[in-house]
Amino acid sequence: MVSRVPLSLIALVLTASLVTAQTPVVAPSNRFKPADDVRLGREASAEVTEQLPLLRDNQVRSTVASIGRRLVNAIPEEFSHQEFRYSFEVVNVRDINAFALPGGPIYVNRGMLEAADDEGEIAGVLAHEISHVALRHGTAQATRATKYQIGMVAGAIIGSLIGGKTGNIVSQGTQFGLGTAFLRFGREFERQADTLGAQIMARAGYDPHGMADMFKTLEREGRSGGPEWLSDHPNPGNRYEAISREAEMLPVNRPRGDSPAFVQMEARLDRLPDAPTTEQVARARNRR
Ligand SMILES: [Zn+2]
Repeated sequence: MVSRVPLSLIALVLTASLVTAQTPVVAPSNRFKPADDVRLGREASAEVTEQLPLLRDNQVRSTVASIGRRLVNAIPEEFSHQEFRYSFEVVNVRDINAFALPGGPIYVNRGMLEAADDEGEIAGVLAHEISHVALRHGTAQATRATKYQIGMVAGAIIGSLIGGKTGNIVSQGTQFGLGTAFLRFGREFERQADTLGAQIMARAGYDPHGMADMFKTLEREGRSGGPEWLSDHPNPGNRYEAISREAEMLPVNRPRGDSPAFVQMEARLDRLPDAPTTEQVARARNRR
């Protein structure tokens, strides 16, 4: 018999409803199994490791990995797939880019780390990429391209999930050079990755405004059409405003600023010899 509801319970319910005042996200339909994501991602990441120069600097790698890990731990239950293994590597090139492979491998260019104004902006990029993985956007996109069987799709995805110049380098080494067939995510998936990314950030203790700021920072870099990351992740419309609006709704769980590790990483990046451009990496590869 519930005649009198205790005040504390009402307070609890109110708090809970405030916490859940956020834009609902529903993963798109997908005819692949999560295990397929893992397999595709594993194949693609073997290509990446072979074709792109990864930065072998423990301090930088562990800082990026710890930001990533914090975000991964904040993925909402309904989007965490047991089979997925998130990993974070830094590609030692100057171009501003980042990409995620199905099932969890995530790569951030050194140029992206150097462009970020603070840790929150790096968290913004990673949260966005993590969201594409968690929502299984790569295989969801392949689901829509019905004329390819999964075996065919594998090669295409390898080039396409990465996209652009980086994707070209990687897919040159693969059996199926289907090029731009799956090159970019559409606006719908971009909006989803922005929204879920903001929610993951807040749960992880990062102010989601950091993601909106990162898009601003990258637009400022705008020489010759802007960084590749922006063309691979096209603006779904009013991006800055939409992320900011979402951010306003989200209570940040124990907010954190720049960590000492982040500050040390920035100093470390300054001291390392300059990274080559993706173009230079591609040319060197073709000479081999
Ligand atoms: Zn995106």
